[in-house]
Formats: sequence, C-alpha cells, structure tokens
Amino acid sequence: MSLVIVGSVAFDKIETPYGQTDKIIGGAGTYICFSSSYFAKNPKVVAVVGNDFPQTFIEKLTSRGVETTGLQVKKEGKTFFWSGKYHENMNSRETLVTELNVLGDFDPIIPESYQDCTYLMLGNLSPVVQRQVIERLTKRPKLIVMDTMNFWMDIMFDELVKTISMVDVLTINDEEAAQLSGEKNIVKAAKKILNMGPKYLIIKKGEHGALMFSKEGQFYAPALPLESVFDPTGAGDTFAGGFIGYIAKTDDISFDNMKSAMIAGSALASFCVEKFGTERIENLSDTEIKARIRTFIDLSTFEFKF
Ligand code: AMP
Repeated sequence: MSLVIVGSVAFDKIETPYGQTDKIIGGAGTYICFSSSYFAKNPKVVAVVGNDFPQTFIEKLTSRGVETTGLQVKKEGKTFFWSGKYHENMNSRETLVTELNVLGDFDPIIPESYQDCTYLMLGNLSPVVQRQVIERLTKRPKLIVMDTMNFWMDIMFDELVKTISMVDVLTINDEEAAQLSGEKNIVKAAKKILNMGPKYLIIKKGEHGALMFSKEGQFYAPALPLESVFDPTGAGDTFAGGFIGYIAKTDDISFDNMKSAMIAGSALASFCVEKFGTERIENLSDTEIKARIRTFIDLSTFEFKF
C-alpha cells in the first residue's frame, strides 16, 4: 500500500548531558522516512531542502527505498535549522533556535506518481502545508496521521486546529496535549482533542510510553526501560514512522491493529534514542527489529489468575 510522508528535512544541533553535536541531519520527515521504511515498501517523501543539503544524504534515503521525487532542492536558500538542548530530565527539552529558511515558503508539489497514496503521514511542519498536501491529493487517503508540536501552537493555532479537524489520527506529546486543549489532566485533554475531529489520539509520554485514546477504547504502549538515553531527538517522529509504516504494511486500520502499530513505533523509537540523530535508525536489521518487538510484547503481556 502506498505511503506518502510530508515533514521537515533539517539540520539539527543538539545538546544533551552526554555531549553535543555540530550540525547533523535531522527533521521530522527524515526520521519518519527511515523508520517507516522498515515496514512500508517505498515510502514517498514530500519535503524541501536548501542548496546546502548534501546529495549523499538523499542517497541514504533512496537506498532505504524512499522515493524522493517530491523532495525539492532549492537553488537558493538554506535548509531548515533547529537547535535543542536537553537537561538532566531528558523528557523535556528547550528549543534554542528555529530557522525556517526554505521551509518558510514551502509550496508542496505532489508528483503524479504520489497520487495513488493510501496512507498519508503529515509529519511536523506548518499546518498550512500539511493541509495543502491533503487538498492536493485527488483522492482522500484511507488514513491520515498527523504529528505537530508546540511551535505551531504558538504561532498558527487556528490553522493548526483546522488541519487537525481533517485527520484521522493525531500524535502529540503530553505537554503539547495540555497546550492544545488547555487541560492539564490527560484524560480531559484527550476528550477535548478528540472533539476537534480526529478519531484517534496518541499522546506520547517519552520514557513513560504512549497512550492511545478513541471512542473504541484506550491502549497503552510502554517505552523500553533503557539504561542510558543518549539523544531523544526524533523519537516521536520515529514512533510515528513505525506506526504508519506498520499500518501501511498490514493495510488494516482497525483499533486492534493500531495497538500493534504502536508497539512497532515504540520499538523503532527505542533504537532512535540510543545514538545521536538518525544514526541508529539508518541501518537496522530485521532480526534486531523483531527481537526488540518481542521484548516489548514480553514487557506488556501477562496472564492474571483470579
Ligand atoms: P521530535 O524529537 O520527535 O519532536 O522531533 C525532532 C525533530 O523535529 C528535529 O529533527 C527537528 O529538526 C524537527 N523540528 C523541530 N522543530 C520543528 C518545527 N517547528 N517544524 C518542523 N520540524 C521541526
């Protein structure tokens, strides 16, 4: 089944208690492309980069089977740049710099070969661009999943709410859920957000796993207890990529299958945090992914004797 991904492709600069990077490649779209590619066949990316972006990295994406016809390389202008800092508590981070650069006036062009899109993943970027992608597809995809962040809530709240009303699944973290809904309590926040339109809401809670809310029920996927989390950047995007990749592979949008998709996403995210940037998720083997999924299953299933 055909999967289309839109999202930022970026340069990141990251500081954690374990060290810091120079400019490395990141971006929501990048993480989603890598992680979804372990499940979905030939995901197709819609994104924009500047003339400073290395062609060798685009080749890394294509070598994972990602179709890059929809990745615009601008002759003028620089790639989106984001810099963030984590303190001792790696669950919360501070954004130091956001330079939109070519993302600021991104006009997403959907190649003809993308029009067979069955599954659409709207990774983090402007809610206006996310909506344009939905509107420029001639047929509504079977499932639209959207991720976003506080940055867009701060500067484009109304546009964001409009786009949220058009999607099936929204994934955000717990702080963003509170900001979006104005409710600190996660259950009250979820109720309010589900009233904005999405049928499913996944609230990511970093090292405390992820919760899915819907009219059909709730589901909790744990995060793998890790001795050291090296760099959480991109974990949320990697989760979303694993989630939509698994749905696309199985072509099943039932609530039960979404539970498995959450475990697939959590497993991929647990690799992501083991190294800086995308390094750990660029070349995973099937064997290690299956073993990690097995660990998640063992972690969360048991027989209870009444
Ligand atoms: P996550 O840790 O999953 O929230 O994602 C981190 C990634 O999001 C980084 O690689 C950044 O390049 C990217 N990012 C940060 N801010 C934005 C933004 N405002 N719009 C789009 N992508 C962003």
